[in-house]
Amino acid sequence: VGSRAERVAVGVDLGGTNLTGLLVSDRGTVAGRELRATPAALGAEAVLGAVLDVASGLAGQARELGHEIAGVGLGIPGPVDADRGVCLFSPNLGWRDLDVISRFREVFNVPVRIDNDVRAATLGEAWLGAGHPYRTFVCLTVGTGIGSGLVLDGRLWRGPGYSAGELGHIPVVDGPDAPPCGCGRRGCLEAVASGTAIGREGRRAASRGEPTSLARLPAEDITARVVAEHARAGDATAARVLRRAAVYLGLGIATAVNLLNPEAVIVGGRVSRSWDLIQPEVTRVVSEKGFPPNLLFLRGVFPAELGEDAGAIGAASLVLGPGGGAVSR
Ligand SMILES: [Zn+2]
Repeated sequence: VGSRAERVAVGVDLGGTNLTGLLVSDRGTVAGRELRATPAALGAEAVLGAVLDVASGLAGQARELGHEIAGVGLGIPGPVDADRGVCLFSPNLGWRDLDVISRFREVFNVPVRIDNDVRAATLGEAWLGAGHPYRTFVCLTVGTGIGSGLVLDGRLWRGPGYSAGELGHIPVVDGPDAPPCGCGRRGCLEAVASGTAIGREGRRAASRGEPTSLARLPAEDITARVVAEHARAGDATAARVLRRAAVYLGLGIATAVNLLNPEAVIVGGRVSRSWDLIQPEVTRVVSEKGFPPNLLFLRGVFPAELGEDAGAIGAASLVLGPGGGAVSR
């Protein structure tokens, strides 16, 4: 027994808050890991520098272990031109029309591929996670916002403008009370079912003087995670706030089911850590609103399996290619 030379890729998931770098072999094992905070406040160049630094560190580890480096993959929040390797727009990072591939080529003498972070997470789940058994599935990430990736007939669907599958911005609420969304519209799924929306509704319930344990906290401490904790501890108001988000999530998922006829819907992102609390309402709404013939093919709505690693694993699979992490099987 000892370390064996393998073909590996560096996969980096660049989040607005955290940067996750993994060394992933084409057999799907993680051979190295580097985590750090994204220096978003320091500007676009600092963020790029941190990504290059993490990737260089992991590539150095790979060389020390005698591995063959297949390339570097990077998942980026926001629309990405995956063919030209250009990040079109990432407000959290301060990136706009940034030629990421060219900047990487100055440092790395290996293939470099980039894609949107949620699409990278979808590829990760397709390769090694909950999406693996399916040729057609939808992967949703529910966190600060709501993103989704579509695998249709074994292929990742990007769309001509690289923004297919914006399930977070399908409209689910109309009228003057529809909450505003980060996209500039009102009443999007993201505006009522994301972690941000759950925290906001928790704060609103507490400030209305409802009999809830949330009211004992300073408003700024009431986040989606805290709402879930209080719901789990038996607080009826917190449970209602989560249920309401779950109902909207169910409506969004039913829309995707009716539109795309997927075999499965995979739910990831931080809110999916409360899967036991949201699952009953999500399942109920999907079974009530789903088009019956499509429901016959739907094997289920499942939680994601790779957690925080999905994006970096999927990013690595961008360069490992068919057999080492391609979607098509
Ligand atoms: Zn929106």
